[in-house]
Amino acid sequence: MPKTVAASYTSPGALLFFTIHVAALLAVFMVRPDATSLILCGSLFLIRKFGITGGYHRYFSHRSFKTSRWFQFVLAWLGGMAAQKGALWWAAHHRHHHQHSDQPDDIHSVKQHGFYWAHLGWILAPDYSDYDVKRVKDLTKYPELVFIDKYHYIPPALLALACYLIGGSSGLLWGFCVSTVILYHTTFAINSFCHLLGRRRYETGESSKNSFILAILTLGEGWHNNHHYYPHCARQGFFWWEIDPTYYVLKLLKLVGIVHEIKEPTKRVLDGREATAALG
Ligand SMILES: [Zn+2]
Ligand SMILES: [Zn+2]
Repeated sequence: MPKTVAASYTSPGALLFFTIHVAALLAVFMVRPDATSLILCGSLFLIRKFGITGGYHRYFSHRSFKTSRWFQFVLAWLGGMAAQKGALWWAAHHRHHHQHSDQPDDIHSVKQHGFYWAHLGWILAPDYSDYDVKRVKDLTKYPELVFIDKYHYIPPALLALACYLIGGSSGLLWGFCVSTVILYHTTFAINSFCHLLGRRRYETGESSKNSFILAILTLGEGWHNNHHYYPHCARQGFFWWEIDPTYYVLKLLKLVGIVHEIKEPTKRVLDGREATAALG
C-alpha cells in the first residue's frame, strides 16, 4: 500500500500534470489576461468544478440522485474536462476512500501517509493509475462511460483547443491551464486539508472535518465531516448556513426536470442519530 509505492514523476500523465502547472505559473507571472481569458478562466472553473462535485462525486461515486442517460454522459464529460481522469477511475478510488477512511488501506489518508501523499502523491503513483472494476459495476454497464473513461484525455484536450481558438495563447494559458490548476488543488484539498483542519460535528471514526473556506472554494464539498457521516445524500451542507452551491444547482436541475430523486439527509442524520454508513 501507499508507503511502499513511489510517486512517478516521469509517466506521460505526470509530465502533462507538471507542464500544466508550469504553464499556469508562467501565465500568472508573465501573461496579462484579457477579459476573454478571465471569463474563460472563471466560467470553466465553475462549470468543471460542478462536473467534479455534482458529477464525479455526488452522482458517479455516491449515486445520490438520478438522471437520464444523456445527462449522465454530460456529467461525465463536464468532469472529464477537469483533467482528473475518467468518472469510473475517480468513483472507484473515492468509494475505496469511504470504505477504508484513515485505515492503512486508505489510499489518500493524511493520518496514515502524510499531507503530500494525501494531497498529490497518490495521484502520481503508477499503482493507482488503474482501478478496481468491481467497485464500479453499476457504471461499467454503460459503454459510453467506459469509452470516455478509457479515453479520458479527449474532453480536456478538446477544451484546451477550444480555449486557444477562442482566446489565443492567453485563452489557453488562463482559460485552460490556470483554471485547471485551481481545480486540481481545490479538489485535492478535500482529501488533504479537509482531513486536517476544521470542525467536527459527527463522530465518524476517521478524521474528516467541516470547513467553510473549503466549502466556498469547492461549491460545497468542504462540509466533509457531514459527508463522511452520511455519504449517500446529495446535500453536504446539512443546514441553511452551510453553503452548498452544488446542491443548489442540483435543485435547479430538478426544477427543470433534468435530475430527480435527490437524496436528502434524514432527520435522524441531522440529529446525529444515524449510524455512519460507508459506501463500498
Ligand atoms: Zn474524506
Ligand atoms: Zn464522497
